[in-house]
Amino acid sequence: MKPAPFAYVRPATLDDAVAELVATGGDGKVLAGGQSLVPVLAMRLGRPGTLVDITAAAGLDTIERRGAVLRIGATTRQRRLERSPAANDVPLIGMALPFVGHRELRSRGTVCGSLAHADPGAELPAVASCLGAVLEVTGASGRRTVPAAEFFAGAMTTAVGAEEVLSAVEFPVAAPGEGFGFAEIARRHGDFALAGVVTRVRSAGGAVQEAVISGFGISDRAATRDVTDLVRAAADSADVEAALRPGTEELARDVVDTAGDSHGSQGYRRRLFAVLAARELAHAHRRSTEGRS
Ligand SMILES: Cc1cc2nc3c(=O)[nH]c(=O)nc-3n(C[C@H](O)[C@H](O)[C@H](O)COP(=O)(O)OP(=O)(O)OC[C@H]3O[C@@H](n4cnc5c(N)ncnc54)[C@H](O)[C@@H]3O)c2cc1C
Repeated sequence: MKPAPFAYVRPATLDDAVAELVATGGDGKVLAGGQSLVPVLAMRLGRPGTLVDITAAAGLDTIERRGAVLRIGATTRQRRLERSPAANDVPLIGMALPFVGHRELRSRGTVCGSLAHADPGAELPAVASCLGAVLEVTGASGRRTVPAAEFFAGAMTTAVGAEEVLSAVEFPVAAPGEGFGFAEIARRHGDFALAGVVTRVRSAGGAVQEAVISGFGISDRAATRDVTDLVRAAADSADVEAALRPGTEELARDVVDTAGDSHGSQGYRRRLFAVLAARELAHAHRRSTEGRS
């Protein structure tokens, strides 16, 4: 199939992009890397009247360290961030990005586009949720910031309004004593995950201070939980991963609510999540106590 007819504009600034969206009265769509939007148009799952291509808007293709955060602008491509030394400041970015589709897709797809698209199986929304990233949204009345916990409202649904642009995201850089874990299971590399986890554990003096897990591919959005008590209780065991398993099996019953499909039943996804969660929480815990992220 071919897309339905649409108008196309390529504004030179973020303000002009917002003005174009406002002019469409809610019938416009931001075009960033096009890796998700173009298939949606081609399958006629969406029929926006106007595409507002933001890729030429000045000053949005940025990767910038600002104190304790790494700020990524709206048009920064995934592959550019993956190859940037700045990504080392946020280790989960380096762990997760190689699993976002294929290298060719990441050469076009943007970090903010993935967050704005909010696919339940996508890696970057889970990274943003696990780290407590802050998202910057720009509209006609100015800029507002939205914590990741409030940004993702459901499958393909976020706090970005029809006349707004996700202008940047700020990921907290790794702090001393933080360790991270990432794993996903997909049918083939580059496919969306059947189930995946992102983990973060912060320790001080050998004691667990904080532990967070985000699961993806298992619900209508990244499912994020504070699991500090769970990791603390398992931390002194000779086999931390095994000690975590009963807890992650219980957690799986809580967070994995996606219906089964031809790729895997709900029960299968729960088993995957429980295994990956125990393994990657144990990894993150070990890294947090060894002083490497
Ligand atoms: C074969 C295939 C496999 C893939 N596998 C994966 C995978 O495993 N994991 C994964 O995470 N992704 C995967 N993707 C999606 C890919 O990562 C996309 O790049 C990403 O989801 C969207 O980024 P984009 O810049 O291309 O956005 P676009 O396709 O341009 O836009 C996607 C949506 O977000 C909106 N949007 C984009 N940017 C903004 C913004 N700044 N402000 C407001 N709205 C905005 C658009 O209006 C549109 O609705 C896959 C895609 C394909 C085609």
